[in-house]
Amino acid sequence: MDVNVVGRPDTDSLELESYRRELQDLKKRYRALAETTSDAIIQITDDLEVLFANTVVKSMFGISPVDIIGNSISELFPSSEFRRIAPLLSDYFFLDLDDRRERGLGNHLEVLGLNGDGEIVPLEISFGIAVDTMGKKSLPCIIRDITERKKTERKLRYLAYHDKLTALGNRDLFQDSLRTYLDEIRRYGDRKGALLFLDLDGFKKVNDTLGHHIGDDILVECSRRLHSCLRNSDHVFRVEQKGEEPGEDIFRFGGDEFVVLLPYLADPSDAAVVAKKIIQDVRSPYPIQNSPKMPSISLGVSVGIAVIPDDGWEISTLISNADVAMYRAKEQGNSFRYFTSEMNRQVTRRLHLEEGLRAALFTTQIKVAFQPVYFAGGGLSGMEALIRWKHPRDGNISPESFISLAEETGLIIPLGAEIMRKSCRMLSHLQKYGYDAYISVNVSPRQFEDQRFEEMIGIMLARSGADPQGLKLEITEGAFLREPEETGRKIVRLKQNFPGISFMVDDFGTGYSSFSHLSTLPIDYIKIDQSFVSALDEKKNRKIVWSIIRLAKSLNLEVVAEGVQDPKHVNFLKSHGCFLHQGYYYSKPLSVQELLRRLRRERCRQTATRSSIDGSEEGS
Ligand code: C2E
Ligand code: MG
Ligand code: MG
Repeated sequence: MDVNVVGRPDTDSLELESYRRELQDLKKRYRALAETTSDAIIQITDDLEVLFANTVVKSMFGISPVDIIGNSISELFPSSEFRRIAPLLSDYFFLDLDDRRERGLGNHLEVLGLNGDGEIVPLEISFGIAVDTMGKKSLPCIIRDITERKKTERKLRYLAYHDKLTALGNRDLFQDSLRTYLDEIRRYGDRKGALLFLDLDGFKKVNDTLGHHIGDDILVECSRRLHSCLRNSDHVFRVEQKGEEPGEDIFRFGGDEFVVLLPYLADPSDAAVVAKKIIQDVRSPYPIQNSPKMPSISLGVSVGIAVIPDDGWEISTLISNADVAMYRAKEQGNSFRYFTSEMNRQVTRRLHLEEGLRAALFTTQIKVAFQPVYFAGGGLSGMEALIRWKHPRDGNISPESFISLAEETGLIIPLGAEIMRKSCRMLSHLQKYGYDAYISVNVSPRQFEDQRFEEMIGIMLARSGADPQGLKLEITEGAFLREPEETGRKIVRLKQNFPGISFMVDDFGTGYSSFSHLSTLPIDYIKIDQSFVSALDEKKNRKIVWSIIRLAKSLNLEVVAEGVQDPKHVNFLKSHGCFLHQGYYYSKPLSVQELLRRLRRERCRQTATRSSIDGSEEGS
C-alpha cells in the first residue's frame, strides 16, 4: 500500500519532468530554427500585437524583439502602408480557407516596411494560422527583404520593355501604356490624346550607303531629339507614372518607325503643333563622324496622327489609323496628316491663321478701335482699346477667333505691346489737348505674367509722354484667379511705378471669383460682362447684374456695364446705381478717325479746339 501511495507521485513527477524537458527541447529547437533563418519571423494576435519576434527583426526593422513584443506591428511599416495591410491581415483571422480563396487572398503579401534608418524597403510576408490549446488564433509571419529581387525584376522589366539601341520604350511597353491610358479615358471620360506614328524619310538609303553603324547613330540622335522636343513642348502635359521612372511616351517600333503618345491635350489640334516641332527638329542635319566627303546628312520624317478616342477605342485600330495617316503624309514627305479629313481641315485653318497673324505683326493689318464709355446721360468717360485685324484676303477677323491663338503661340506679347503703343499714343494726344478721358487696354493672362510686361508699359508711357493717370488695364477674372497673391503683388508694384494707373476686372460674372478674392485684390473697377447686360430682359440676368453692382459698391469699386444696347438697359442700370456704360446703344467700337470726329462733335472739354485734335489722326 505504502509503496503504491509513495510510488505513484514519483511516477507522476517523473512523467511531468520528462514532459517539461521535452517541451523545453521543443522550444529550443523551434527557437534555434527561428534564429537560423535570415528572414524575420513574428507571430501576431488578432489585435495585430506581436506575441513573438526573432532577432532578425532587429536587423530588418531596427527594433529589438523585446521592444516590439506586446506592441502593435504598426511601428514596422509606414503609416499609409499599415492602414492598407491591417484589414488584410485581420481578414486572415476571420475568414476560413474557402472564403480566402474566394476573395483571392493568397498566403503572401508584398508590403513596404521601414528599416532602422527610416528608409522604405520592399518586403514579402508569408503567413499561416496557428491555433493554441485554448482555441485562440495567432498569425505566424515570415518576413523577407525583397530589395534585390525587386531590383532584378525592374532590370528584367526594363530589358523586356525597352529598345536596346535607343533606350526608348518598345512595342510591348507601348501596348501596355496605351491600354492603361484607354482604361483611364473609359473611367474618367473627359480626356483627349493623340497617337503620332513617325517614319523617317529616306532612312533605308542611309543604311545602304553609309552602313548600319551610322544608321544606328542617327537613330540614337533622332530619339534624343524626340525626347527634348516633347520635354520642351508647352502643349504636352505629362503625368509622372507611379514608381521612379518618369512617364514614358516615346516608343521605337523597330527600324526607323517611332510612336509618340500624347496623353493629355487641351485640344486635338495641339498634336499638330507637336508634330510640326518634331518635323522641324528631326530635319536639322546629323553630323557624321570621320566622313570628310559627307560631313552631315539631313532626314525628313512623316507623321500620321490618330486622335484618341475619336479615331478608335482599340489599340490596333488606333495604330492602323495613325499608320494610314502617316502614309498620306509620306506622299508629300516631311509633313504630318491627321487620320480624319475634318481634323486636317481644322488644323490647316488654324495654321493658316497663325501664319497670317505672324505676317500681320507690325503691318497696317493690325489696328486699334476705341469703344467709348459714357456717364449715363452725360458725357464721355473714357474708351476701351480693341484690337482689329484686317487680313488682306479674308477681311476682318474677329478678336475672338485669334486672341486665344495669339495667347497659345505667344504672339500676344508683340501684339499686346503694339496695342499698348497705339493706346498710349492716343492717350497722350487726348491729354495734350485737354480731353479728360481714360483709355482702357485689354491685357491677356500670358501678357500679364510676362516678365517684361512692366518694362513694356514703362517704355510705351515714356515714349508717348502719356500720363498713367488716364491708363486702365483690363484683366479677365480668370487671370486674377490663376495666382491671386502674385497678381496682387504685381498690381501694387505697377501702381507704385506708374502712379494713377488703375485696374479693371473684365468680363466679371463669367468666372468664379469670390467676394473674399475681390476684397483682397488692389483693383479699382469691375466690368460686368456683356452677356448679362445685353440680355437684361431675362430675370436671371437682372438678378446677376443687380448683385454685381451691390458687390462692387460694398467693396468701394467703380462698376462699368458693357453690352448696353437698349434704353431699357440704361434705365435699369441707372436705377440700380451703375452709371458707366459701354455698348452699341452709345457707340460701336470706332476707328481712330471716327473717334476723333466724334470727340470734335461732343467736345469733352471746352478747352479742346478742332484744329489741335486733328493733329493726332495719323497712323493708329
Ligand atoms: P472685351 O474686352 O470684353 O471687349 C468687349 C467686346 O464686346 C468687344 O468685342 C466689343 O466690340 C463688344 N461689344 C461692346 N459693346 C457691345 C454690345 O453692345 N453688344 C455686343 N454684342 N458686343 C459689344 P471685340 O472687339 O470683338 O473683342 C472681343 C474680345 O477680344 C474682347 O472682349 C477682349 O477679351 C479681346 N480683345 C480685344 N482686343 C484685345 C486686345 O487688344 N488685347 C487682348 N488681350 N484682348 C483683346
Ligand atoms: Mg475688355
Ligand atoms: Mg469684357
